[in-house]
Amino acid sequence: MSYVKKFQVEPGARIQLDKIDADFKPKGLDRDEAEERIRELTVELRDLQHLMYAEDQRSLLIVLQGRDAAGKDGTIRHVFGPMNPQGTRVTSFKVPSKEEQAHDFLWRCHKAAPKRGMVGIFNRSHYEDVLVVRVHDLVPKKIWSKRFDHINAFERLLADKGTIVLKFYLHIDRDEQLERFKKRMNNPKKNWKISDADYTERPYWDAYTEAFEDALSKCSTDIAPWFVVPANRKWARNLVIAEIVADTMKGLNMRFPEPEVDIEEIRRKYHEAERAG
Ligand code: ADP
Repeated sequence: MSYVKKFQVEPGARIQLDKIDADFKPKGLDRDEAEERIRELTVELRDLQHLMYAEDQRSLLIVLQGRDAAGKDGTIRHVFGPMNPQGTRVTSFKVPSKEEQAHDFLWRCHKAAPKRGMVGIFNRSHYEDVLVVRVHDLVPKKIWSKRFDHINAFERLLADKGTIVLKFYLHIDRDEQLERFKKRMNNPKKNWKISDADYTERPYWDAYTEAFEDALSKCSTDIAPWFVVPANRKWARNLVIAEIVADTMKGLNMRFPEPEVDIEEIRRKYHEAERAG
């Protein structure tokens, strides 16, 4: 079964995250083999991104969500890092600024959506407005509960413009999160990543689970599917995401555009210039 089918959330399906194994290992591949495959895939992804840029007809939006320490930054580095920076744009969504707060919640995300030919990567996204906002009662339920429909309409709008939307929930379990916090604490090169939020959010684990489950089931659509990616093992996570993105991009059957000039004419001029020295 392809990873697309295996990890995609069926539109409307109820998800129970604690029933999904965050420890998944791909069948028949050990870690070294998986890492070799990831290297091949990132080369493929780089070429596909180049083709998307050259074709200049469609764009790709990758949405990454997950709990603290789920591996959003690592995914960007390992899976999308080898792409050409000229054709990609990463946007990290933080607590909204005063100006952002004065607009509707989609305003800042719409501005960051990839234009034709580009790959856009959202590190957190418009989903924060039905996740952290819901868990901490930052706006009343009657406001956030309408946002699922707004999100689906927004993503439909992007799709109608030729944007392929792929959304990944990086699924780690409680023990793995604590383990990663410990590594951040004990490794001087990772200390900078520790934030108070890591610890203040942990008691809200179940509230986040409920919020994520709702978002995944209400907003996984044919044109903008969610994937629940087991992420306790970083290499398995990278493999699954790279396979899904590569599969999707290959399925677009993109073509290099026809040259706008007459190649025979150019060839003739070139030979003339060559003869003239
Ligand atoms: P990250 O954890 O993404 O590496 P930060 O430590 O700066 O980066 O965390 C960003 C914070 O911004 C997160 O706690 C996240 O929940 C919060 N945030 C993002 N979007 C919103 C939003 N719309 N409303 C409130 N908080 C938000």
